[in-house]
Amino acid sequence: MAMTMVEKILAKASGKSTVTPGENIWVNVDVLMTHDVCGPGTIGIFKKEFGEKAQVWDREKIVLIPDHYIFTADKRANRNVDILRDFAQQQNIKYFYDISDRSDFKANPDYKGVCHVALAQEGHTRPGEVLFGTDSHTCNAGAFGQFATGIGNTDAAFILGTGKLLVKVPATMRFVLNGEMPDYLLAKDLILQIIGDISVSGATYRTMEFAGQTVEKMTMEERMTLCNMVIEAGGKNGVIAADETTFKYLQGRTDKTFESFHTDENATFYSDRSYDVTKLEPVVAKPHSPDNKELARNCKDVKIDRVYIGSCTGGKTSDFLHAAKLIKGHQVKVPTYLVPATQKVYEDLFSLKHDGKTLSEIFLDAGCIEPAAPSCAACLGGPKDTFGRLNEPEICVSTTNRNFPGRMGNKQAQVYLASPYTAAASALTGYVTDPREFM
Ligand code: SF4
Repeated sequence: MAMTMVEKILAKASGKSTVTPGENIWVNVDVLMTHDVCGPGTIGIFKKEFGEKAQVWDREKIVLIPDHYIFTADKRANRNVDILRDFAQQQNIKYFYDISDRSDFKANPDYKGVCHVALAQEGHTRPGEVLFGTDSHTCNAGAFGQFATGIGNTDAAFILGTGKLLVKVPATMRFVLNGEMPDYLLAKDLILQIIGDISVSGATYRTMEFAGQTVEKMTMEERMTLCNMVIEAGGKNGVIAADETTFKYLQGRTDKTFESFHTDENATFYSDRSYDVTKLEPVVAKPHSPDNKELARNCKDVKIDRVYIGSCTGGKTSDFLHAAKLIKGHQVKVPTYLVPATQKVYEDLFSLKHDGKTLSEIFLDAGCIEPAAPSCAACLGGPKDTFGRLNEPEICVSTTNRNFPGRMGNKQAQVYLASPYTAAASALTGYVTDPREFM
């Protein structure tokens, strides 16, 4: 029977030869990830249901990543990390990326940063596997040809104890992106365009599979940006077939063997859409919804108070490289916050050069605020002392993924979601700006 890539992955994980959309199946889990926000709740349920002394199903398949509320004086936030640490020690969890020295994190080789980017950089995102995480943007890992999706604490606690989960097989919506990517567009523009076209509920409980020449030519970081935001369309997961680009990225990051799956030519799709990317323009999602799509050039009268470049969606090395290319030689007109997703990205800012200058030199010369320590930071608001948090009803252009009221702090604040190019161009003018003005 012809199947999509995700159906094949789920069939393998459930020990079946075929599965069909809508079918409920038990799958064996390859990786479970949790972080400081949901980890303590997950651990609490695990202990209550399986017993105080219960052992996790597999200490090598659990990844604990503190990343959300890290650089804060908030006692409850700090306590959450302590709970993760106690559990990791008690269970001898193999992958716990701790913060052992919060006052001087830069010297700490263990801390990673935002979980979704850290999972990829540390080689936990492997084709053909099943990854669950207690975070809605776990779908990011679909970029590696993996079935990856977010779950709640109860499901995660069940996995901790059993290594299994009951899943309904999602139907697949395919998005074929063809054409040479114009140099003013980034993957963020494509995903904002798609979400704007299908709405925030357009892919509810479905797989969004991205294919076509444009996707095949994308780097892994750009593929991650596409898959990261499928949840903003309600998608269960996003997926892109693994290829040489994927294998090259994984080289040296994992020594585990994996199997990659491909969608059959005659597979059945819930829907099949095509885009010619050469016809698209830079877009933003206006307040207060990721599907509130508008051309960036139509928002040129929107005066802004700040720009934020960061998060799992828009805080990767290439996101900063793109922003730096545009900013180089100019001065920003509004406070511009830079939050690298991970420690590795942070280090890249100080070592990677463009036109003879490191990215951090380019940003500082342009008047940006010094790059912050890697974490989720203001992407989801956080405690009042969080770096970059919108504590006032300000207007912000951001490379993050959500702009619902209050998402980045103040409930009256307005967030325009944009690509790193558009965010950089907006920083240079103080208005929402189409990056073509600087190209
Ligand atoms: S960076 Fe933002 S979207 Fe990504 S995991 Fe952190 S809070 Fe969630």
